[in-house]
Amino acid sequence: MIKGLDHLGIAVTDLDAAIAQWIALTGGILMHREVVASQQVEVAVITIGALRIELLQPQTESSPIAKFIARRGAGIHHLALEAAPAQAELDRLKTAGVQLIDEHLRPGAEHTEVGFLHPRAAGGVLLEFVEHPDR
Ligand code: ZN
Repeated sequence: MIKGLDHLGIAVTDLDAAIAQWIALTGGILMHREVVASQQVEVAVITIGALRIELLQPQTESSPIAKFIARRGAGIHHLALEAAPAQAELDRLKTAGVQLIDEHLRPGAEHTEVGFLHPRAAGGVLLEFVEHPDR
């Protein structure tokens, strides 16, 4: 089942500067920061009320985020929806012929498991399904 918005992912070139900027602009709170090796990114999570923003800085030039920034510049990268169980949602869409990036969940930030649909599947929007195993 899809439960609703989990977070917005934003590609940035300078994580420290982006954190300071978002906090100054919104009064948001830095909740979490970690390197997600599987995606070659450093992630900072900022909460603004009920909204969670995930700032993503590439760690390598081959990171998907580095490729995104090279192609389209920094900015909104993906929309993440909470799903439980998320694998069942990926399976359902695969069966329906929807183009996926991930057929199987992989580790995300904050002990989540995540899977991405191909942007072609949603009119150019990169959709992420997120499952929080501790919820
Ligand atoms: Zn995300």
